[in-house]
Amino acid sequence: MTIAYIGLGANLGNARETVERALLAIDALPASRLKAQSSLFRSAPIDSTGDDYVNAVAQIDTSLTALALLTQLQQIELAFGRERPYPNAPRTLDLDVLLFGSEQHQTATLTVPHPRLTQRAFTLIPLLQLDALIAIPGYGPAHTYVDGVAGQVIQKM
Ligand code: AMP
Repeated sequence: MTIAYIGLGANLGNARETVERALLAIDALPASRLKAQSSLFRSAPIDSTGDDYVNAVAQIDTSLTALALLTQLQQIELAFGRERPYPNAPRTLDLDVLLFGSEQHQTATLTVPHPRLTQRAFTLIPLLQLDALIAIPGYGPAHTYVDGVAGQVIQKM
């Protein structure tokens, strides 16, 4: 079993409900179990437009491979994406593999640890809420990146 961390974000429609339903979908993934979930946080959009995002991080135990997990998460995204009101609309739901045990991947389809994990308050702060001492393979202790995201406003819901 591998402990993996998944980042969730939504900024369309009832974003809070979307994140809560997505956590249930993650708990129902094959060969996986939701171990813990962070608080929900509200954050201003960084590389997109529209409403504030609702974000959270989930910790799972899984016997899937990292790539199989990504594929499963993309299927959940697609299922929620049917609620998209128009092409290229802000995403109903974005799911990212943030960490996958101690593994490091750098392929066309998968980069783990997620390359922007340490640069975004909305992934870093919920991750640290789940494990204040967590180390990011190739980066070192996650808490050392907190000062770098201090300018990004996120609010616990
Ligand atoms: P996005 O539009 O941000 O959801 O990015 C989706 C694309 O990012 C997909 O083509 C994935 O193959 C790729 N990707 C690379 N690394 C990751 C990761 N760690 N988690 C999620 N998607 C990833």
